[in-house]
Amino acid sequence: MNEHYPFVNPPLPYSYDSMEPYISRQTMELHHNGYLQTYINDLNQALENHPEYQTFSLDELICYADNMPAQIRSSVLHNAGGAYNHIFYFSLLKKCDNTQPSGELADLIAWQFGCFENFQDLFTAAALSVFGSGYAWLVLDQDDKLAFRTTDNQGTLLSSGDRPIFSIDVWEHAYYLQYYNMRSNYIHDWFSVINWEQAERNFSDAKNNGA
Ligand code: MN
Repeated sequence: MNEHYPFVNPPLPYSYDSMEPYISRQTMELHHNGYLQTYINDLNQALENHPEYQTFSLDELICYADNMPAQIRSSVLHNAGGAYNHIFYFSLLKKCDNTQPSGELADLIAWQFGCFENFQDLFTAAALSVFGSGYAWLVLDQDDKLAFRTTDNQGTLLSSGDRPIFSIDVWEHAYYLQYYNMRSNYIHDWFSVINWEQAERNFSDAKNNGA
């Protein structure tokens, strides 16, 4: 991803069929080449006539959007959020043998939640609680505890002090072609394609960076 305008859609580090059968090729292709590409195109369009913001990173655009002129504010917020959230979501997908974390993240999950299955049930409940479109997140909170968060639409946690470890996109476009209205089945299958190595790196970075 470019640091700033003009933003480009970063290629996925895996093929569109890599997450089969848990997330279909058709869903991955539409999601990355359709939805994420559109967020990026629309963000570039919003910034086209605003050179004063063309050096801003995605994070900076999201955090500064409230100070922008009214005619681009909501577009920048929605589209920079959409780009940021999707790049993060796609970075946390990988089909691999380990379907649970290891190391210190596994230890903290066990300490806070007792067992992985309990953690999975609670995260699933959080993801099911998103009313309409949005995301559910596992974060390290300001007390260095694991916590669940939800955001609506393309909202982010950038200004919250929470440090994201992973997220699941629960917009219908993330699952509807394959799972129809059964969001719970998508969440269940998504647990088979979490990139735990990346989640462990995010956890380690979060601990080292502090709240
Ligand atoms: Mn999406």
